[in-house]
Amino acid sequence: MANLPATKIEELKNNVRGEILLPSGDAYESARKIWNGMIDKRPALIVRCAAVSDVVRAVNFARDNKLLLAVRGGGHNIAGNAMCDDGIVIDLSQMKTANVDAGARRVTIEGGATLADLDAATQAHGLATPVGINSTTGVAGLTLGGGFGWLSRKYGLTIDNLESAEVVTAAGAVVRASADEHPDLFWALRGGGGNFGVVTRFEFRLHPVGPNVLSGLIVYPIAAAKSVLQQYRAFVAKAPDDLAVWTVMRQAPPLPFLPEKVHGTGMLALALLYAGDPKQGEPLIEPLRKFGTPLGEHVGVQPYTAWQQAFDPLLTTGARNYWKSHNFSKLDDGLFDAVIEYVGKLPSPQCEIFLGTLGGAANRPASDATAYAHRDAEFVMNVHGRWENAADDARCIGWARDFFKASAPFATGGVYVNFLTADETDRVSAAYGSNYDRLAQVKRKYDPDNLFCVNQNIKPA
Ligand SMILES: Cc1cc2nc3c(=O)[nH]c(=O)nc-3n(C[C@H](O)[C@H](O)[C@H](O)COP(=O)(O)OP(=O)(O)OC[C@H]3O[C@@H](n4cnc5c(N)ncnc54)[C@H](O)[C@@H]3O)c2cc1C
Repeated sequence: MANLPATKIEELKNNVRGEILLPSGDAYESARKIWNGMIDKRPALIVRCAAVSDVVRAVNFARDNKLLLAVRGGGHNIAGNAMCDDGIVIDLSQMKTANVDAGARRVTIEGGATLADLDAATQAHGLATPVGINSTTGVAGLTLGGGFGWLSRKYGLTIDNLESAEVVTAAGAVVRASADEHPDLFWALRGGGGNFGVVTRFEFRLHPVGPNVLSGLIVYPIAAAKSVLQQYRAFVAKAPDDLAVWTVMRQAPPLPFLPEKVHGTGMLALALLYAGDPKQGEPLIEPLRKFGTPLGEHVGVQPYTAWQQAFDPLLTTGARNYWKSHNFSKLDDGLFDAVIEYVGKLPSPQCEIFLGTLGGAANRPASDATAYAHRDAEFVMNVHGRWENAADDARCIGWARDFFKASAPFATGGVYVNFLTADETDRVSAAYGSNYDRLAQVKRKYDPDNLFCVNQNIKPA
């Protein structure tokens, strides 16, 4: 990049509607910061795009000048793939427009939108599509990896609701991918990550949701965890698709509904959402209150958008994060023992172990129906190593890695591509699983020179 003449940058500047941010400029420092505070990359140039034509120009510029290229959607990727060193970043953060066609139950939304942007637009019509559980996450990266959250048991993964995508390819062409147009690309986008081009617009199918939903937390002491987890396992095996119950194990945050004396002590929270009529959900969730003696609960009928933001205060941007993840097709007692042991030695008050429940509609498609291969994963565990000071890096990373090893014997071996950290290149083939070879063929067709390589990378066949 150092060899790129200033005249070329000036020419790009004159040809885009958005902004060009250079290291010498005021906006550069904040623009290069992303969710994970451990990522400290310094691109030579950030193109903050205002329109699809800007994306096309930036892709052409990167390709023609042989620059390393990264694409930033919501900037949440734990591995830091929204940024690169010395190259060019296509920053979509200003492209967030959503258009809802309530009659047709469709939304189109631009590639820089967050889940909050999507939920706000669709919930204005009492509609939603399944996405993740932290509203500041980007729609783009989440969707391209698969995407799951509270609605996935009922309505499938985010990709199962993708109708079409507008993509700027490595050749700088703007194409529409759908079941009828570029079906190979459409297949690959649904789980193959950012390998195939820059998605500038997504079109999703929508479903009636809420706008008020039965949701909330029931909190148990960690001392009761083994028995609660065993009862949880039996409960979710029979739960209807309308009901999603996840578990979170960590130190109790100072939540107003918990007695002050338990703040900072170990807890297991059951986090739930019932996607149907709250009145029908009430009796269904009653057994969850009887797994033991809860420390407290905060469950009620609240706006879906409020529940979608409930975890945001625990997942704010800028902290240091190191994650590890496994997929499980069933939950063994041995896994519970490992979880309880490691929750007993949390290295920071922000570290947590999350167990998300899939099943239902998320697991019904065949493993090769989309690029996301893990239709056998009933549970996805995410070990959130999270802390504030670099001095604690080794201790917190060590804890996450040790727990990952201790829980590996109970896992499927597959992993959700969106939860891979930067040092897990050895797990990329496990993330794409049995679909890797087909993905590599599609990669060869749409990106033969691997221009889009700052991601969990698929090498062109
Ligand atoms: C706090 C937190 C909570 C999460 N919860 C969930 C959850 O509940 N469910 C779930 O499924 N996932 C969840 N995730 C994981 C999330 O799906 C990934 O981090 C995802 O990569 C985020 O997308 P992004 O657009 O914000 O990321 P970015 O960092 O911007 O991008 C991620 C990857 O996608 C590529 N990319 C981004 N935008 C585009 C685009 N428009 N076109 C092509 N490629 C693009 C990037 O190049 C990069 O490789 C969570 C992550 C965090 C940090």
